[in-house]
Amino acid sequence: MIQFDILTLFPEMFAGVFDTSIIGRARERGFVEITLHNIRDYAPGKHRVTDDTPYGGGGGMIMKPEPIFYAVEAILNVEIPKEGYNKLHRQGYPPIVLLTPQGQPLGQPLVQKWVTDYERILFICGRYEGVDERVRQYLATDELSIGDYVLSGGEIAAMVMVDAMTRLIPGVLGDTEATTKDSHSDGLLEYPHYTRPAEFRGHGIPEILLSGHHANLEVWRRQQSLARTLARRPDLLTATDLSEADQSFLDSLPQNPAAGEDEGD
Ligand code: SAH
Repeated sequence: MIQFDILTLFPEMFAGVFDTSIIGRARERGFVEITLHNIRDYAPGKHRVTDDTPYGGGGGMIMKPEPIFYAVEAILNVEIPKEGYNKLHRQGYPPIVLLTPQGQPLGQPLVQKWVTDYERILFICGRYEGVDERVRQYLATDELSIGDYVLSGGEIAAMVMVDAMTRLIPGVLGDTEATTKDSHSDGLLEYPHYTRPAEFRGHGIPEILLSGHHANLEVWRRQQSLARTLARRPDLLTATDLSEADQSFLDSLPQNPAAGEDEGD
Protein backbone atom coordinates (compact mmCIF):
# COMPACT_ATOMS: atom_id res chain seq x y z
CA MET A 1 0.00 0.00 0.00
CA ILE A 2 1.38 3.39 -1.00
CA GLN A 3 -0.20 6.71 -0.14
CA PHE A 4 0.11 9.51 -2.68
CA ASP A 5 -0.76 13.09 -1.73
CA ILE A 6 -0.98 15.50 -4.63
CA LEU A 7 -0.90 19.26 -4.07
CA THR A 8 -2.41 21.06 -7.03
CA LEU A 9 -4.43 24.06 -8.10
CA PHE A 10 -6.45 21.82 -10.43
CA PRO A 11 -7.59 18.67 -8.62
CA GLU A 12 -10.37 18.16 -11.16
CA MET A 13 -7.75 17.23 -13.77
CA PHE A 14 -7.11 13.88 -12.12
CA ALA A 15 -10.56 12.37 -12.49
CA GLY A 16 -10.56 9.86 -15.31
CA VAL A 17 -6.90 8.94 -15.09
CA PHE A 18 -7.14 7.92 -11.45
CA ASP A 19 -10.61 6.36 -11.68
CA THR A 20 -10.06 4.10 -14.66
CA SER A 21 -8.50 0.73 -15.42
CA ILE A 22 -5.41 -0.28 -13.45
CA ILE A 23 -5.16 2.74 -11.14
CA GLY A 24 -8.91 2.78 -10.49
CA ARG A 25 -8.84 -0.90 -9.56
CA ALA A 26 -5.69 -0.53 -7.48
CA ARG A 27 -7.44 2.17 -5.44
CA GLU A 28 -10.58 0.09 -5.00
CA ARG A 29 -8.57 -2.89 -3.86
CA GLY A 30 -6.52 -0.85 -1.40
CA PHE A 31 -3.10 -1.04 -3.08
CA VAL A 32 -2.89 2.74 -3.32
CA GLU A 33 -4.56 5.65 -1.65
CA ILE A 34 -4.54 8.90 -3.60
CA THR A 35 -5.54 12.16 -1.95
CA LEU A 36 -5.86 15.37 -3.93
CA HIS A 37 -5.29 18.60 -2.04
CA ASN A 38 -6.33 21.91 -3.52
CA ILE A 39 -3.55 24.39 -2.73
CA ARG A 40 -6.10 27.19 -2.92
CA ASP A 41 -7.82 25.82 0.20
CA TYR A 42 -4.67 26.66 2.18
CA ALA A 43 -4.18 30.18 0.82
CA PRO A 44 -4.71 32.84 3.49
CA GLY A 45 -7.04 35.81 3.04
CA LYS A 46 -10.48 36.31 1.68
CA HIS A 47 -9.35 36.02 -1.93
CA ARG A 48 -7.19 32.95 -1.39
CA VAL A 49 -4.46 34.23 -3.68
CA THR A 50 -2.04 31.50 -4.77
CA ASP A 51 0.19 33.33 -7.23
CA ASP A 52 1.85 36.70 -7.72
CA THR A 53 4.15 38.55 -10.11
CA PRO A 54 7.89 37.83 -9.99
CA TYR A 55 10.28 40.09 -8.07
CA GLY A 56 12.52 41.80 -10.59
CA GLY A 57 9.86 41.64 -13.29
CA GLY A 58 9.96 39.42 -16.31
CA GLY A 59 6.33 38.58 -16.72
CA GLY A 60 4.32 35.48 -15.88
CA MET A 61 3.06 34.48 -12.46
CA ILE A 62 4.83 32.62 -9.67
CA MET A 63 3.12 30.36 -7.16
CA LYS A 64 3.38 31.85 -3.68
CA PRO A 65 5.18 29.84 -0.99
CA GLU A 66 2.73 30.25 1.94
CA PRO A 67 -0.19 28.18 0.62
CA ILE A 68 2.13 25.32 -0.29
CA PHE A 69 3.90 25.32 3.10
CA TYR A 70 0.55 25.57 4.92
CA ALA A 71 -0.85 22.71 2.87
CA VAL A 72 2.06 20.41 3.76
CA GLU A 73 1.84 21.38 7.43
CA ALA A 74 -1.86 20.58 7.51
CA ILE A 75 -1.55 17.32 5.54
CA LEU A 76 1.28 15.98 7.69
CA ASN A 77 0.18 17.71 10.90
CA VAL A 78 3.66 19.10 11.52
CA GLU A 79 5.42 22.43 11.74
CA ILE A 80 8.18 22.89 9.20
CA PRO A 81 11.37 24.09 10.93
CA LYS A 82 13.17 27.19 9.62
CA GLU A 83 16.10 25.13 8.37
CA GLY A 84 13.70 23.24 6.14
CA TYR A 85 11.62 20.10 5.78
CA ASN A 86 14.64 17.92 5.03
CA LYS A 87 15.27 17.71 8.76
CA LEU A 88 11.85 16.07 9.17
CA HIS A 89 12.42 13.84 6.18
CA ARG A 90 15.59 12.53 7.84
CA GLN A 91 13.43 11.68 10.88
CA GLY A 92 11.15 9.56 8.72
CA TYR A 93 8.64 12.01 7.29
CA PRO A 94 7.69 11.21 3.68
CA PRO A 95 9.53 12.64 0.67
CA ILE A 96 8.10 15.75 -0.99
CA VAL A 97 8.60 15.74 -4.73
CA LEU A 98 8.61 19.02 -6.61
CA LEU A 99 7.71 18.37 -10.22
CA THR A 100 9.90 20.52 -12.43
CA PRO A 101 11.58 20.32 -15.84
CA GLN A 102 14.78 21.14 -13.92
CA GLY A 103 14.58 17.96 -11.84
CA GLN A 104 16.24 14.58 -12.06
CA PRO A 105 14.88 12.83 -15.17
CA LEU A 106 12.52 9.97 -14.32
CA GLY A 107 13.50 6.50 -15.51
CA GLN A 108 12.28 3.01 -14.72
CA PRO A 109 15.04 2.26 -12.16
CA LEU A 110 14.07 5.42 -10.27
CA VAL A 111 10.38 4.47 -10.36
CA GLN A 112 11.24 1.01 -9.02
CA LYS A 113 13.38 2.47 -6.25
CA TRP A 114 10.65 4.85 -5.10
CA VAL A 115 8.04 2.09 -4.98
CA THR A 116 10.39 -0.03 -2.89
CA ASP A 117 11.58 2.70 -0.54
CA TYR A 118 8.45 4.65 0.38
CA GLU A 119 4.98 4.12 1.82
CA ARG A 120 3.91 7.69 1.31
CA ILE A 121 4.93 10.36 -1.23
CA LEU A 122 3.79 13.96 -1.61
CA PHE A 123 3.83 15.69 -4.99
CA ILE A 124 3.78 19.44 -5.58
CA CYS A 125 2.42 20.43 -8.99
CA GLY A 126 3.63 23.78 -10.27
CA ARG A 127 1.75 26.04 -12.67
CA TYR A 128 2.47 29.27 -14.56
CA GLU A 129 6.20 30.15 -14.41
CA GLY A 130 6.64 27.72 -11.54
CA VAL A 131 6.89 27.95 -7.75
CA ASP A 132 8.73 30.39 -5.50
CA GLU A 133 12.31 29.15 -5.10
CA ARG A 134 11.89 28.76 -1.32
CA VAL A 135 9.58 25.82 -1.96
CA ARG A 136 12.47 24.10 -3.67
CA GLN A 137 14.97 25.16 -1.00
CA TYR A 138 13.06 24.48 2.23
CA LEU A 139 10.21 22.13 1.37
CA ALA A 140 11.01 19.75 -1.47
CA THR A 141 13.19 16.75 -0.71
CA ASP A 142 13.41 15.77 -4.37
CA GLU A 143 12.92 17.37 -7.76
CA LEU A 144 11.80 15.16 -10.59
CA SER A 145 11.22 15.77 -14.28
CA ILE A 146 9.35 13.51 -16.67
CA GLY A 147 11.49 14.59 -19.62
CA ASP A 148 13.27 17.41 -21.38
CA TYR A 149 10.22 19.40 -22.42
CA VAL A 150 8.02 21.92 -20.65
CA LEU A 151 4.43 21.20 -19.62
CA SER A 152 1.95 23.85 -18.60
CA GLY A 153 1.65 22.28 -15.16
CA GLY A 154 2.93 19.52 -12.92
CA GLU A 155 -0.39 17.64 -12.90
CA ILE A 156 0.31 15.45 -15.90
CA ALA A 157 3.79 14.74 -14.54
CA ALA A 158 2.24 13.66 -11.22
CA MET A 159 -0.16 11.38 -13.10
CA VAL A 160 2.77 9.85 -14.97
CA MET A 161 4.63 9.12 -11.77
CA VAL A 162 1.64 7.74 -9.87
CA ASP A 163 0.79 5.53 -12.85
CA ALA A 164 4.33 4.24 -13.30
CA MET A 165 4.69 3.49 -9.59
CA THR A 166 1.25 1.95 -9.06
CA ARG A 167 1.67 -0.74 -11.72
CA LEU A 168 4.87 -1.90 -9.97
CA ILE A 169 3.20 -2.52 -6.60
CA PRO A 170 3.12 -6.31 -6.20
CA GLY A 171 -0.40 -7.58 -6.86
CA VAL A 172 -1.62 -4.60 -8.87
CA LEU A 173 -1.06 -6.29 -12.21
CA GLY A 174 -2.32 -9.85 -12.35
CA ASP A 175 0.87 -11.19 -13.86
CA THR A 176 3.85 -10.08 -11.76
CA GLU A 177 6.20 -11.32 -14.48
CA ALA A 178 4.78 -8.78 -16.89
CA THR A 179 6.51 -5.82 -15.25
CA THR A 180 9.93 -7.47 -15.04
CA LYS A 181 9.95 -7.99 -18.82
CA ASP A 182 8.69 -4.55 -19.73
CA SER A 183 10.89 -2.22 -21.72
CA HIS A 184 13.45 -0.41 -19.52
CA SER A 185 13.07 -2.86 -16.63
CA ASP A 186 16.24 -4.77 -17.40
CA GLY A 187 17.83 -2.09 -19.59
CA LEU A 188 16.44 -3.56 -22.81
CA LEU A 189 13.40 -2.80 -24.91
CA GLU A 190 10.78 -5.52 -24.87
CA TYR A 191 10.39 -8.07 -27.68
CA PRO A 192 7.41 -7.72 -30.09
CA HIS A 193 4.00 -9.14 -29.23
CA TYR A 194 1.37 -10.77 -31.45
CA THR A 195 -2.11 -12.03 -30.76
CA ARG A 196 -4.84 -13.71 -32.80
CA PRO A 197 -5.46 -13.91 -35.72
CA ALA A 198 -2.34 -15.74 -36.92
CA GLU A 199 -2.88 -14.18 -40.33
CA PHE A 200 -4.24 -10.70 -40.87
CA ARG A 201 -4.56 -9.18 -44.34
CA GLY A 202 -1.92 -11.55 -45.56
CA HIS A 203 0.51 -10.72 -42.75
CA GLY A 204 1.59 -13.71 -40.76
CA ILE A 205 3.40 -14.01 -37.46
CA PRO A 206 6.84 -15.51 -36.73
CA GLU A 207 6.70 -19.32 -36.94
CA ILE A 208 8.42 -19.70 -33.60
CA LEU A 209 5.35 -18.37 -31.80
CA LEU A 210 3.28 -21.27 -33.08
CA SER A 211 5.94 -23.92 -32.49
CA GLY A 212 5.18 -24.54 -28.82
CA HIS A 213 8.94 -24.87 -28.21
CA HIS A 214 9.36 -22.93 -25.02
CA ALA A 215 13.16 -22.82 -24.81
CA ASN A 216 13.58 -21.68 -28.41
CA LEU A 217 10.89 -19.08 -27.88
CA GLU A 218 12.75 -17.63 -24.91
CA VAL A 219 15.94 -17.39 -27.00
CA TRP A 220 14.03 -15.74 -29.84
CA ARG A 221 12.46 -13.19 -27.48
CA ARG A 222 15.78 -12.36 -25.89
CA GLN A 223 17.35 -11.88 -29.33
CA GLN A 224 14.47 -9.70 -30.46
CA SER A 225 14.95 -7.55 -27.37
CA LEU A 226 18.66 -7.22 -28.03
CA ALA A 227 18.26 -6.47 -31.75
CA ARG A 228 15.58 -3.84 -31.08
CA THR A 229 17.59 -2.15 -28.40
CA LEU A 230 20.66 -2.05 -30.63
CA ALA A 231 18.61 -0.62 -33.51
CA ARG A 232 16.60 1.93 -31.58
CA ARG A 233 18.40 2.71 -28.37
CA PRO A 234 22.03 1.58 -28.52
CA ASP A 235 22.70 3.93 -25.60
CA LEU A 236 20.78 1.53 -23.34
CA LEU A 237 23.01 -1.44 -24.17
CA THR A 238 26.05 0.12 -22.56
CA ALA A 239 24.24 0.17 -19.24
CA THR A 240 23.00 -3.41 -19.43
CA ASP A 241 24.47 -6.63 -18.06
CA LEU A 242 24.86 -8.86 -21.09
CA SER A 243 25.66 -12.54 -21.08
CA GLU A 244 28.23 -14.04 -23.43
CA ALA A 245 25.41 -15.42 -25.56
CA ASP A 246 23.83 -11.95 -25.72
CA GLN A 247 27.09 -10.39 -26.75
CA SER A 248 27.87 -12.91 -29.48
CA PHE A 249 24.35 -12.52 -30.84
CA LEU A 250 24.79 -8.75 -30.96
CA ASP A 251 28.18 -9.15 -32.64
CA SER A 252 26.54 -11.26 -35.33
CA LEU A 253 24.07 -8.54 -36.26
CA PRO A 254 24.69 -6.26 -39.21
CA GLN A 255 25.30 -2.87 -37.59
CA ASN A 256 22.60 -1.10 -39.52
CA PRO A 257 19.76 0.98 -38.16
CA ALA A 258 17.13 -1.39 -39.57
CA ALA A 259 18.25 -4.35 -37.43
CA GLY A 260 15.35 -5.66 -35.42
CA GLU A 261 12.70 -4.18 -37.71
CA ASP A 262 10.07 -5.95 -39.75
CA GLU A 263 10.78 -9.49 -38.79
CA GLY A 264 7.10 -10.32 -38.66
CA ASP A 265 6.79 -12.05 -42.00
N1 SAH B 1 9.54 28.32 -15.87
C1 SAH B 1 9.77 26.96 -15.50
C2 SAH B 1 8.77 26.02 -16.17
C3 SAH B 1 7.37 26.21 -15.66
S1 SAH B 1 6.28 25.06 -16.36
C4 SAH B 1 11.17 26.57 -15.93
O1 SAH B 1 11.63 27.06 -16.95
O2 SAH B 1 11.80 25.75 -15.26
C5 SAH B 1 5.01 25.01 -15.15
C6 SAH B 1 5.02 23.83 -14.21
O3 SAH B 1 4.83 22.65 -14.97
C7 SAH B 1 6.29 23.62 -13.44
O4 SAH B 1 6.30 24.35 -12.25
C8 SAH B 1 6.27 22.12 -13.18
O5 SAH B 1 5.56 21.80 -11.99
C9 SAH B 1 5.50 21.57 -14.35
N2 SAH B 1 6.37 20.95 -15.37
C10 SAH B 1 6.67 21.45 -16.59
N3 SAH B 1 7.47 20.64 -17.28
C11 SAH B 1 7.70 19.57 -16.50
C12 SAH B 1 8.47 18.37 -16.65
N4 SAH B 1 9.17 18.11 -17.77
N5 SAH B 1 8.48 17.48 -15.63
C13 SAH B 1 7.78 17.72 -14.50
N6 SAH B 1 7.05 18.84 -14.29
C14 SAH B 1 7.00 19.75 -15.27
